[in-house]
Amino acid sequence: MKVTLYPSRILFREAKPVFEFGDALKKLAGDMAQTMKEYDGVGLAGPQANQDAKIIIVHTPEGDHTFVNPQIIQKSRETAEEEEGCLSLPGLFVNVKRAEEVEVACQTLEGETVKLKVSGLTSRIFQHEIDHVEGRLIIHRTPFLKRMRLRKKLREIANLS
Ligand SMILES: [Zn+2]
Repeated sequence: MKVTLYPSRILFREAKPVFEFGDALKKLAGDMAQTMKEYDGVGLAGPQANQDAKIIIVHTPEGDHTFVNPQIIQKSRETAEEEEGCLSLPGLFVNVKRAEEVEVACQTLEGETVKLKVSGLTSRIFQHEIDHVEGRLIIHRTPFLKRMRLRKKLREIANLS
């Protein structure tokens, strides 16, 4: 698979919820995990694989995991700011402020509903990928003036595709 690049429209709209938990979904998850590895990423969301589906892959120290229809149900008041990149925005890095800890409700590839609490880098990856399935990119998490300064880089990325 090729990662969908900015400014593809699919990256800017909310993806559709997944209702079918069958072999096609498992195959998609496998392909997405493989693509994430090939691109050396730590996360990948459906729209980045040109799929209008709420599915994300998250790399954790224990391995790569797939989450379907993920939603943030609780956020810590404590925040942290770190530099982030995105496979859909090659070469662009911006500081993004995010909640230190989040609680996520989602479904497994089998359709089972699970809730999990994550913090640190894993929490950041979840928030980044959940932003993707909701149609938001890291540039939308950047203050306006800072975003103006990214215009040249964004034009370069737009010329890649
Ligand atoms: Zn991204």
